[in-house]
Amino acid sequence: SMRISQFYLPTLREDPAEAEIASHKMMFRTGMIRKVSSGIYAFLPLGWRVFRKVENIIREEMNRAGAHEVYMPAIHPAELWQETGRWYEYGKELLRMNDRHDRPYCFGPTHEEVITDLARKEIRSYRQMPLNLYQIQVKFRDEIRPRFGVMRAREFIMKDAYSFDVDEKASDVAYWKMYTAYERIFTRCGLDFRPVEAESGLIGGSFSHEFMALASTGEETIASCTSCDYAANVKKAEIAVADNQPAAGEKQKPMQKVATPEIKTIEALSDFLKVSARDLVKTLIFESDKGVVAALVRGDHEVNEIKLMTTLDASHAELASDDVVEKITDSPKGFAGPIGLKVPIIADHALKGLVNLVTGANEKDAHLVNVNFERDFHVERFADIRMVVQGDRCPRCGSLFRFDRGIEVGQVFKLGKKYSEAMNATYLDDQGAEKPMVMGCYGIGLARTMAAVIEQNHDDDGVIFPMSVAPFHVIVVPVNDQNTALMETAHRVTEDLEKQDIEVLLDDRAERPGVKFKDADLIGVPLRVTLGEKHFGRGKLEIFRRKTGETILVKIDEAVKTLAGMVEDELASHMPDK
Ligand code: ATP
Ligand code: MG
Repeated sequence: SMRISQFYLPTLREDPAEAEIASHKMMFRTGMIRKVSSGIYAFLPLGWRVFRKVENIIREEMNRAGAHEVYMPAIHPAELWQETGRWYEYGKELLRMNDRHDRPYCFGPTHEEVITDLARKEIRSYRQMPLNLYQIQVKFRDEIRPRFGVMRAREFIMKDAYSFDVDEKASDVAYWKMYTAYERIFTRCGLDFRPVEAESGLIGGSFSHEFMALASTGEETIASCTSCDYAANVKKAEIAVADNQPAAGEKQKPMQKVATPEIKTIEALSDFLKVSARDLVKTLIFESDKGVVAALVRGDHEVNEIKLMTTLDASHAELASDDVVEKITDSPKGFAGPIGLKVPIIADHALKGLVNLVTGANEKDAHLVNVNFERDFHVERFADIRMVVQGDRCPRCGSLFRFDRGIEVGQVFKLGKKYSEAMNATYLDDQGAEKPMVMGCYGIGLARTMAAVIEQNHDDDGVIFPMSVAPFHVIVVPVNDQNTALMETAHRVTEDLEKQDIEVLLDDRAERPGVKFKDADLIGVPLRVTLGEKHFGRGKLEIFRRKTGETILVKIDEAVKTLAGMVEDELASHMPDK
């Protein structure tokens, strides 16, 4: 049986200086992880036990959903990444290396290329699909800012699954199967989470959800509708079109130029003109593969480059260089306005219907007031091109959005034919015609999930593990190691619990009770059994529930049965079928 005296449990009383969030602090203090290098971590026995719990839940649910486990290499030949072009798109996040023959490789940050290469060699016929292959395997991403311990590491273990189907319809079925499996996985891990619509970034594809563990320290922001179930990452959230009506009697006034010496920012302009930022218009010049465009948004709004790209049907769009801005506006940067521009103008929906705008004048030290649409300049189109903000409304039902912070623990993507077309992964359909496979991919970060569980389940004393991922279900704490009868009972209770498949840690150290209780609280074991001399003398022991702080006294003879019931009940409470 597992005794603390023989288990490596190096708990610490101090937080590591660099730790910013609770989970990072606690994973260190409990002795779950140790840092080897920036963004590179080792797991110690306690941490690895929790990791394996998360891993088992994921594996069970992937298997239940009909996926098959495989294992792919960490090191990928450059040619595969060159075939899809991602060798050139990925930049410095991709760790590249050469072998002894000077041939280029990378350490895989994800496995679309490798799996698609496998699929094109293995899958010949429609009869071999649907197929979903997954692995639990190490990735490397040379993150620009590793932080929060294992939450944003450089080396980390991911469960990544890839589905192959004959057409979009079948691929859709695979996608929602994974979506459901993810809901089950995160429910079983005891997470408070929400699936949200998401952008697909460098992975690409047409449709995606992120699974967000809700936490105020999360790096992501979620916009969710206050009345329907629409929810999206703020980078993705669509915005209902505002119905701007000019105030009664508000007429278009004659346009005027005003001198605005050295005023180049919205804040400075709003101070200078004594109007709020929302009454100003920002004109931003973007370069894209579809040419140079001007994007107009309200002074208090920000352009969402991904939405702009989608509007332009472009594959990239970024703020134009100073040179380009100066050439397009014929003035120094900071004074761009829509009048007289020789490039197409895309205006955000929030500007539609407004009159007497304040804009740049395309002239140094000057702005224009009382600028009006169509009278003074032409807009190519109004579109949703900005980031969602407080006060915006849901595109589905028109209710207000609320905003929450989240940790992205998993993401599912519909890839369509992006990789199969790039890498010529085809199959023969039932008519003998050659067709590209339709793919999806599905990732979960195991250590990030584990850290998110801790981030959501802790107090000042330490972690409060949900039973499903706890390193041990029960910790047995005899308060006096000199009392032989009491120690014997502690051992016997431990062994009897183990016979019931309950995972028990016995604190057999010659420490003061206070020290033992502190460690038990810190490492977050859900149930603590205390054998104290007073109650022991009366044939009883105490069960302490970490989560609620409640204590119950039970007869020693009945303790194993009671504890087994408590463990089973809590494990069952995490099961999605209940
Ligand atoms: P992020 O936006 O947080 O950088 P991502 O969207 O690039 O993550 P995916 O490509 O969707 O990540 O990878 C699937 C999962 O792998 C993520 O949902 C997350 O749980 C995990 N993951 C990604 N990057 C890291 C990292 N640097 N450290 C730990 N886990 C990670
Ligand atoms: Mg992601």
